[in-house]
Amino acid sequence: MKYVKLVGIYEELEKTSKRLEKTHIISEFLKKTSADDLPVIVLMLQGKLFPNWDDNKIGVASRLILKAINTATGISSARIEKEWKKTGDLGIVAENLVKGKKQVTLVSHELSVKKVFENLRKLATLEGMGTVDKKMQLISELLTSANPVEAKYIVRNVLEELRVGVGEGSLRDAIVWAFFGDKVDLKFSENKIEVEREEYNKYVDSVQRAYDITNDFSSVALTAKKDGLKGLNAMGIRVFRPLKVMLALKVGDVKGGFERCGEKVDVEYKLDGFRIQAHKDEGEVRLFTRRLEDVTKQFPDVVEYVLNNVKGDSFIIDCEAAGFDPKSGRYLPFQKISQRIKRKYDIASMAKNFPVELNVFDIIYYNGKSMLKESFEKRRELIEKIVSGKKRKIVVVKNMITSKGAEIERFYKESLNEGNEGVMIKNLSAPYKPGARVNYMVKLKPTMETLDLVIVGAEWGEGKRAKWLSSFVLACIQEGKFLEIGKMGTGIKEKKEEGVSFEELTKLLRPLIIAEKGKSVEIKPKIVVEVDYEEIQKSPTYSSGFALRFPRLKGLRTDRRASEATDLDLVEDLYYGQKK
Ligand code: AMP
Repeated sequence: MKYVKLVGIYEELEKTSKRLEKTHIISEFLKKTSADDLPVIVLMLQGKLFPNWDDNKIGVASRLILKAINTATGISSARIEKEWKKTGDLGIVAENLVKGKKQVTLVSHELSVKKVFENLRKLATLEGMGTVDKKMQLISELLTSANPVEAKYIVRNVLEELRVGVGEGSLRDAIVWAFFGDKVDLKFSENKIEVEREEYNKYVDSVQRAYDITNDFSSVALTAKKDGLKGLNAMGIRVFRPLKVMLALKVGDVKGGFERCGEKVDVEYKLDGFRIQAHKDEGEVRLFTRRLEDVTKQFPDVVEYVLNNVKGDSFIIDCEAAGFDPKSGRYLPFQKISQRIKRKYDIASMAKNFPVELNVFDIIYYNGKSMLKESFEKRRELIEKIVSGKKRKIVVVKNMITSKGAEIERFYKESLNEGNEGVMIKNLSAPYKPGARVNYMVKLKPTMETLDLVIVGAEWGEGKRAKWLSSFVLACIQEGKFLEIGKMGTGIKEKKEEGVSFEELTKLLRPLIIAEKGKSVEIKPKIVVEVDYEEIQKSPTYSSGFALRFPRLKGLRTDRRASEATDLDLVEDLYYGQKK
């Protein structure tokens, strides 16, 4: 397929903000796409080059793109930079500058989707000497052959920042419309659909389920096209491909826990660590965070605990890794051990100084069989059978099964005293639902809740802080959109020994700058931070409609994706909750 065809679709999608219209555009395009092209097209419609479970990253900073535009067009860096400041969008800069460059009209060979995709994927695999130059050449080679609009999207593809607003929901629905639309008599006109609702929902659920398990819309779309509903329903769990985890709702008190989870419930310590999905097959163990990032290398200690203390040829277990003080053995808050997640060197000494205990609380797959449909009670029984507990190494999370409120209250206090966040209450007969926030696994913790917010902007500092970003624009999320909720300048340290420093944040954020105007920069939403505050207020200043009073950085949430930031619903709940 010619790249220009895909670019046409990008342009159409960018023109409308209506979700159903976007879904329609994508579904018509998917219908016409051959099975050969489908996987790549589905990725590129999401502005991605790798599926979620794949850890490869392109890793190209804005500066490198400036250089590539310079090489491809011969236009001076100073002028490109000026255009960038003016428009605030490197894609548009590339479009405008390629337009102004006469020779482009003479370019003979047209770009194919495959060529663009392959060049961009190469960016992720380059390593070692001369990498930066090679990356620059790969991009400028594409820009040289591109027409102006193609140039705009090549840049956006490189930045993995498509800006055409295709969310997971629209893509899922588009797959249903494209491959099952005729089965449910789906008719779309004037931004409305008519459909046999019940049947339609069945297909939507099947596509969603397949996606939650595989984390890969490309293989979901291809299976829907080739093997239909049967194929989708047969898509199974694969060891070493992380699944989306099941998430919990919050309840305000013990009564709320019983209301959601039944008369007799399972209650567990809620540890303040980070989630680890541990996979084992053929004697090999791999670990994934809830963001589906492979952290096996960072946690050789945990790999060993799993290998030596969990029986079974193959399995996937769901766990919380909780840090503890190596001297006193007491649990520590997540922020104390969070640095281990991204650490690439001195792994052994990190494991010694910041040990973690793996608390197994669920099982998803065991010896070739999915456990998703089994009741929680059965799953818990199984983990108790296969995990041989070793305190401060690997244990089955501490629990009790009860129908008495007073017992839960006591257990809750005990858990808080141990340094934990609270308790989880779980319905004994419920299944495991990947990717869903369910009302049969709930959390109970003291009300003051920190927020996990995404940094979407910042300002360069003044005086001695001039080389650092110093004031950070925070956003929560709603249906894939980032909505601003405040600006944060406190809690960040001057020196790196004291915690998260201005220097560290600047280093993290600088490569993500997508636009710059005066002192303000716009930042690609990637970095999630945990934020404390005095109060939530209503505010017309920010797009969320709320503002945080005295927001303060508590730490980096390296285990969360931007899409997992606090959503607006929770902010609203907290706002109304604090009025109680
Ligand atoms: P929250 O992050 O506040 O939404 O709480 C849910 C998280 O608590 C899960 O994603 C787990 O990482 C963590 N957690 C800690 N202990 C448990 C437990 N016993 N069962 C389930 N999740 C737990």
